[in-house]
Amino acid sequence: MIGMLNQKHMLEETAMKDHMPSVEPSFRQSVDLMFQRAACLLDISPGLKEKIRVCNSTYTVRFGVRLRGEMHTFTGYRSVHSEHHEPVKGGIRFASDVNQDEVEALAALMSLKCALVEVPFGGSKGGLAINPHDWDEDELERITRRFAYELIKRDLINPAQNVPAPDMGTGEREMAWIADQYKRMHTSDINASACVTGKPLNQGGIAGRIEATGRGVQYALREFFRHPEDIARAGLTGSLDGKRIVVQGLGNVGYHAARFLEEEDGCRVIGIIERDGGLFDERGLSVEAVKSHMMQTGSIQGFAGATFIGKGAALLEEPCDILIPAALEGVITMENAPRIHAPLIIEAGNGPITAGADQFLRERGTVIIPDLYANAGGVTVSYFEWVKNLSHIRFGRMERRREEARHQLLLQGIEELTGQAFPERLKADYLRGASELDMVRSGLDDTMRTGYQQMRAYWHDRDGVEDLRIAGYLIAIERIAANYASAGL
Ligand code: NAD
Repeated sequence: MIGMLNQKHMLEETAMKDHMPSVEPSFRQSVDLMFQRAACLLDISPGLKEKIRVCNSTYTVRFGVRLRGEMHTFTGYRSVHSEHHEPVKGGIRFASDVNQDEVEALAALMSLKCALVEVPFGGSKGGLAINPHDWDEDELERITRRFAYELIKRDLINPAQNVPAPDMGTGEREMAWIADQYKRMHTSDINASACVTGKPLNQGGIAGRIEATGRGVQYALREFFRHPEDIARAGLTGSLDGKRIVVQGLGNVGYHAARFLEEEDGCRVIGIIERDGGLFDERGLSVEAVKSHMMQTGSIQGFAGATFIGKGAALLEEPCDILIPAALEGVITMENAPRIHAPLIIEAGNGPITAGADQFLRERGTVIIPDLYANAGGVTVSYFEWVKNLSHIRFGRMERRREEARHQLLLQGIEELTGQAFPERLKADYLRGASELDMVRSGLDDTMRTGYQQMRAYWHDRDGVEDLRIAGYLIAIERIAANYASAGL
């Protein structure tokens, strides 16, 4: 019987591998197809593969809030994909089209992401079907607190079990409301601050969390460009300096990634795509200037000195060196994939490339740095914040001045021994002890370098691994499987 089941599973997997979708798969189906493609290469039992693939649970809540004189009903979700580590971790998204399929796909990606970058969390995700722009701040606070209340009373927000973070449509402000709601409901929980990450600094947040995902994208690209063999695979040459970039989504992730790449790595951001159109300038746009125009006017339209394109998505097809989709899922599809020219795509957002488009691009030789790795900077720094909250002390507070004093001693010794003054230009940098931000950046950089190196080792050395995505999925599934096996499940 077991033999028959195994055979059936193998046939299904072969079919899955050979026959990629003829119609565009949903986000959830895309993640499943990518999972199956990696699972085919793994020598673990079909039963365990299935256990790792499925989403453990999804809670749907419909709650009412009295606003503007009448009752409004809202629908929210919190999905838990895998509890092989607890707490489970994953953002809360506010968007009109949030649905169960999307939240489950995002929760699955969270499990894989955490495993890949060795963050000891299981995967979860939440969403509220709401357009945040429809409500003023007070109303949004009441809706957020009510949603949080529904999740907290079921332990779907809890420092030991389930820890949300920001995602599309949410940020520090919403995380502060959620943390405060949890504290009101658990007045004696000394670890209450750790119930959510991405909080403002004055509410127990950590330096560098806001920009962490964009910073992680920058570190990922820097690591990619340290490997000449990989650069050549993408048909590129040289370093990041001068590379032409198109970015989609100038929100938290896209704005920080594009700004850092422009200001610190010499990249030229030639195209920016937002919900209401796109901007193009071959000479390079100032990301900061476009963002401030967007903040002032609510749109990128009317930005002086660049060409405005009404159908912004057309800019995805613009020839460039690096394409950074950092907004929605499913924007590169079987329909537009043949017209995508970028030789290197880094998935700063979750799920921007459908499984069908992924197959087309892979076969054409496009190098894709996959979402489960590329945007893992956010959860990495969230992990640091959670650890900070549990230890109740800022990173570096005990050792910073001690470190500076020891450096001072060493410099004095060198100067006495050599009879020469230590070069002034190096002195200040060497003497300065690490701040919390320095430590966060160091931990993030290390995580992104290590993650990429592990993926590329699988990509280049392991039979059947055609791309970085499958390398990332393989590493993650292997780690989760090993965890289940050693826990005796
Ligand atoms: P955000 O809400 O801050 O920004 C999203 C941006 O995309 C907004 O500026 C919005 O106007 C724009 N946008 C919406 N629809 C668009 C369209 N059709 N075309 C072009 N632009 C459009 O969200 P975010 O936090 O930056 O998240 C973006 C992506 O990154 C999501 O997939 C999210 O899951 C993923 N992500 C976010 C984090 C994080 O720390 N915030 C971490 C990991 C992954």
